[in-house]
Parts: sequence; structure tokens; C-alpha cells
Amino acid sequence: MRTPCDVLLTNAHVLTMDAQYAVHPRGSVAIGGSSILAVGDIEAEYEPSETVDCGGRIVMPGFVNAHTHAPMTMLRGLADDLRLDVWLMGYMMPVEREFVRPDFVALGTKLACAEMIRSGTTCFADMYYFEEAVAEAAADAGVRAVCAQTVLKFRAPDAASFEDSLERARKFIVQWKGHPLIVPAVAPHAPYTCTSEILRACAELASEFSVPLHTHLAETSFEVEQSRREHGMPVVPWAKKQRLFDARVLAAHCVHIDEGEMRALADAGAGVAHNPTSNLKLGSGVAPVAKMLALGVAVGIGTDGTASNNDLDMFEEIRLAALLAKGISGDPTSLPAREALAMATRIGAKAVHLGDVTGSLEPGKRADLIVVDLDQPHNVPRFARDPGAVYSQLVYASKSTDVVSVMCDGKWLMRERRLLTLDEAGLRAAAGDLARRIDAFLVKREQSVLQKLIAIGGASEEESFEVQVKARLGSPDGVQRALATDEITVIRAVHYHQYDTYFFFDDPAQGRLRYREDEFLDERNNVVNARARLTLTGPSSEAAFGSVLLFRSRFFAPATHSPRFYREYFKPSRERAVEKDRHRWLVAFHGVQFHVHLDHLVIPHPGAYFLEVKSRTWSRRDARDKAAIIMELLETLGARPDETIAEGYVEL
Ligand SMILES: [Zn+2]
Repeated sequence: MRTPCDVLLTNAHVLTMDAQYAVHPRGSVAIGGSSILAVGDIEAEYEPSETVDCGGRIVMPGFVNAHTHAPMTMLRGLADDLRLDVWLMGYMMPVEREFVRPDFVALGTKLACAEMIRSGTTCFADMYYFEEAVAEAAADAGVRAVCAQTVLKFRAPDAASFEDSLERARKFIVQWKGHPLIVPAVAPHAPYTCTSEILRACAELASEFSVPLHTHLAETSFEVEQSRREHGMPVVPWAKKQRLFDARVLAAHCVHIDEGEMRALADAGAGVAHNPTSNLKLGSGVAPVAKMLALGVAVGIGTDGTASNNDLDMFEEIRLAALLAKGISGDPTSLPAREALAMATRIGAKAVHLGDVTGSLEPGKRADLIVVDLDQPHNVPRFARDPGAVYSQLVYASKSTDVVSVMCDGKWLMRERRLLTLDEAGLRAAAGDLARRIDAFLVKREQSVLQKLIAIGGASEEESFEVQVKARLGSPDGVQRALATDEITVIRAVHYHQYDTYFFFDDPAQGRLRYREDEFLDERNNVVNARARLTLTGPSSEAAFGSVLLFRSRFFAPATHSPRFYREYFKPSRERAVEKDRHRWLVAFHGVQFHVHLDHLVIPHPGAYFLEVKSRTWSRRDARDKAAIIMELLETLGARPDETIAEGYVEL
């Protein structure tokens, strides 16, 4: 009496990828419903509804992509070969702010699923916004996924605040918990993009519903230095102190961690996702994978998002993981092919906390499997002497295009390279349409320095009429003397040291951008405060009264990045540094208020003194009145009117 089953795969070279690495060179797999019933020499024991003769092809578990941002397929190739901050803050985040909506997320995820199915991935761990749209698209495509709703301290495309995104995560978890394919989860983005409060709240939420917590940890050395500086400890102990590991953590990257941190991850039962391509492409480094595995950490392999990879091909990731481990250790026996393949299957499933569901072909686990053809020219011949040779064949020679058929949860998603759950042509067309809209948005932005400034965090505009005049001074004595007389009333005095970087553009209509760092000084010249800001000054659109009246637009923005960031982002055609010591007074002269700046230059013209007098004005009449007084004030302060100069030192 034979046992009934739904599908029986026969004549297969079965790699179970179980803990013993059992192989059945002429084996079968029996599937009932969504589960594996039996594996091995079991053909005679089953009465299948459907028999599939695999013709000697490989049958193995589908890959587990342990870390990705599936919807980012829609940003693939958008901006590459840039430093992390320019890439992220200059391109990814502005485009995400503008375009990421549930329809973007659904389209990107479907496209990702098509690519993943084609390359043999049946399970992925995701982290993005509108995660319910990721979950829905993955479930429709029939792919298993751990879907984690992002929470961070900034405003996100799907939430105005961290409280909103946490609430969103809670709703999402309640809605999707218990789904046969989708495991909902929460994703505090990273310790440096979250507060202590957020990390704790996310860990509590994950524990409350017993769902995984997906995060990025110790991706760059900068992150570790920052953590040491701010918290006095590296990233993993800090996260532990915030009780993050009370939850079942899946930590992406862990590139820069020491042995103690590895032990802490192992003790906490945390999984790690190794993303070799992303870490190389963004110049982050190489994670100590062999060491982590030796210490008992479950390390899976991930592609990361396609904006930093730029594909979801697990064959490439597995090969790179195996090669890199050898390259950085100088030891060719490090991370053998078989173990690298396990990282992408059984160990990867454990890392994403689905170890009892998928990742190996064993009775009781879900039927998540792939059929791979090793008969292509790049994979011929095959040797029988070493039964383990098949692993190195898969890792070092096979390609994603060798995947012929894919089954997930007992259902076929691809048969003989034909996708069964997704309309590939339709996805290609829709992705092309959206890409054209994103292109148009960026092209428009690239044409304008102002638009680029707005894209990275807003700028407040101030259009101003100004009456202003500048002069070179032989000595500052006259200014000090004049300010002490009754003729001029000093209302306020400030002293600071200024470091300016001016960026110029080929098209003068773009104006000039100034990055200024002000150090405020007290009476004893000690720095009491500092700030940095950006000012985009448009060209003077009008000048009158002997160039004393200027009309121009100015946009201010807080400078939250380094001058290097702005240089790489705005790509100015030339730049100029100015450093000076500035005394600034607000004075009243003949009943009119003026700002007086006495500048002692360091760069350029070291030692030179300049005087600048200016006043805001709102009408031509007011401007004419002030223009008459301003030259008198200039003379009173000890400057010679015939030595006045045009706007700005940078023009000198
Ligand atoms: Zn990531």
C-alpha cells in the first residue's frame, strides 16, 4: 500500500542541506500540501498525483536571502559609485520621499520576486516602508518572506514620526501574524538612526508578539567610532544595553565587530546577514564571517537592496562570500563551498528565525525547493570521485540562469524557466514608466542648485533688498574709535571666527553657495558656541545708487553634512576658501540701524582688514535714504569712500 502524495520529484540529485549534508544522487522528494513528506530512496513508497522526472538535475532547498529591501529594485542603477552619505542623503532619500508610496513598493517587490524566483530564492528577509505592500506582493507571488516594518527617528515616507511608524508596525504585525508565507516583523533601522527609546520600544513590540526584529548593525567603521564617541562602547554592547537582544534579532552586516561582540550575538541567539557585495560596493569592509560561524553565530547571506548591489542574485553572493573569506584570511580552506551554500539555505533560515520551517529538505519542513541544471557548458564535465564536488560546482561555476524550476510552500512558482505567478512583461513595462518619472524628477533637480539644496533637507528663502558697501581698511583703529563716540550707538556686539567655503557654478544664474562655520567667541576669545549653515545667494538682479543697493534672493539651510559632502553632491566648477575673524555690531546712525562688520582676514590676504556696512531695506525710497547715509557712516568709521569695493571678498 503506497502513501498518497501531491507531487513526487524523482530521478533527482538531491542535496538536502540538512545538518549531516545528506545527499541522494538518485533520489526522490515527496510533497504533500505545503510540506515535505519524505526525501531519499522513497519513490516506491508513494502514490503521487503528479510525478516530475528531474532527469538527474539537482534538487535542493531554495535560497534564503537573509537581508534585502525588495522595493528598492525600483532604484536599481539610479546613482552609483558615490560615498555612502551622498548616495543615501543626496539621492536615495530624496527620491524615496518623493516616490515611495504603496504602489511603488508593490511594483518594486513584484519585480524583486520575479528576479528572486528566477535565481532560486524562495525566502527573503525584508526591511522597508509600507511593509504591508511588500507582504501582499510577496504572498501574491508565492514567495516566503520575513517582512519588517521600518522604524526610525526621522520622518519616513510612510510615517510622520517614530510613534507613527511604531504604531504602523504594530498594526502590520497584528494583521499578518499566522500567515502561511509571511512572517511580520519590526525593523528599527539602525542604532545610529534610532534613539535608545526606539530600540527599546521595538524590542518590546517584537517580544510581545514573538516576531523577529530586523536591523542594521556595525555596517561601517564610522558607525563604530561614533558609537564609541557617543556611548563609550561599540555597537553591539550598546544595542544590548538598550535590551535589543530581548527580541529575536536579525542583524544585517556586522562588518566591524570584535570577538566579544560575536559571542554576545551567539549568546543572544541572534542571526547575522552577511552582504558581501553591498559591503564591497559601499566600501564598508568585509565581515569576519568564518570567525562568527566558528563561534556559533547563525550567519546567513543577503543581497541587501538592489540600489547597493545591484541585483538579487544569490549565486553571486554565495560565491563572493566563499572567495572573500579566503581572500582576507589568506587561507583557501576558509569557508568551503559546502558551508557557503549552507549559509544561503539551512543556516540562513536559522538566521532569519525560520530554521524549523525552511532551509533544508527534511520531512516536516515546507516544500521550498529548486531544480538546477548543471548540464550547461560552463558546468561540464562533472566528476564522481568526490561526492562533495557538487557543492563546489554549484558555488564556483553555476549561475542563477541554471535554475530551471522553483517551488515554494508546495506550489510551483516557475516551471522550466516560465514564471507562473507573475506577469514579467507587465512588470517590465510598469517599471519602465516609473523609471521615466524618477528620471524626469532628478533631471529637473540637477538643473538647479536651489532644487538640489531643497532636495537634501529644505531651505528657507529670503529675498532681500540690501543697501551695502565694503571697503578695505588700513587699520581697525578708526572703527573702534568711532564706535566709542556719541555719533554712533552700539545696540549689540558679537565676535566670531568664520570659515567659509564658496562654491561657484559655470552658470552664474545658479548663484553661489556658501558653506559657513561660525565659531562664537567670548571676551577672552574662547569658543563658546559653533554652528554651520549653507547660504545660496542668487546673482544681484538689480543694483542702483552706485551699486550700493542690491536686490538678491538668499536661501538658508542648516549645514548638517561636511563640506566634502556638499562638494561631491553639488559638483561646483570651482571653490574658494575664506577665513576671517569678524566683529559684528548692530548700530544706530542718524536714526537708522546698520550692521557693521569688521573683518580681519586669515585667508586670503592674511592680515588685511575689511569693513562692511549694510542695512535691510524694503522700498526704493527707503533705499535712497539709506544709501545717502551709508557712505557717511563708512567715512565716520575710518574708511575712504573711494576705496569701496564690489560685493564679496571672493570677487577680489
Ligand atoms: Zn540594508
